Amino acid sequence: MMEQILLEQIVLGTRNKKKRRELETLFQPLGIRVVTLDAYADAVEIEEDGDSFAANAEAKAVRQARHLGQWVLGEDSGLCVDALKGEPGIYSARFAGENATDEDNNRLLLERLGGVPDERRGAHYVCHMALSDPAGHVRVRCEAYCEGWIRREGSGVGGFGYDPLFEIPEYHRTFGELGEAVKSVLSHRARAMRQFIPQLKALLCK
Ligand code: IMP
Repeated sequence: MMEQILLEQIVLGTRNKKKRRELETLFQPLGIRVVTLDAYADAVEIEEDGDSFAANAEAKAVRQARHLGQWVLGEDSGLCVDALKGEPGIYSARFAGENATDEDNNRLLLERLGGVPDERRGAHYVCHMALSDPAGHVRVRCEAYCEGWIRREGSGVGGFGYDPLFEIPEYHRTFGELGEAVKSVLSHRARAMRQFIPQLKALLCK
């Protein structure tokens, strides 16, 4: 049976302002209205209590979608460092503690990688996206990665989070140095978006 999908806008289910800005830029070419949680005074705080990026992204999408009766995009992302067996991973935002700043997290990361030589400083960013319909069914899911390595000191003021420390090997520059335009093509979020778009189109053309 033909399914009629009415998708007029997507609510970005994140409170991280820099991340939200990147997502807004990535959604622009799609011509779908995206709004942030700021548009909904009654939006709920979703606890990130899952044990994977996927579980957290889905929780942010599904719980908020049901609550608001809207299409909601849940996004969960983080940095996995090889020499730290994948840490900080899903705990990237709170690596140095519950209210840690980006600076606190970067300082701890450098500390933990103290004696680690260059060839063992490999890392990757992960981005998982889940789009829930207003009834709480996940209709699109995707996950993508961005490979790099962790510098010994920060450089650049672009991006956010671990970007001043995260070097893209092909460019010999950190995301902090490369800035928005390059990040909007190479990042884990940009790569996830390239999987997301065809799935969304397929859903809308059902
Ligand atoms: P979330 O909001 O729980 O998904 O946590 C995301 C955390 O992962 C951020 O607070 C950063 O610490 C880290 N992170 C995710 N994406 C990026 C990025 O593009 N650059 C730098 N850090 C990132």
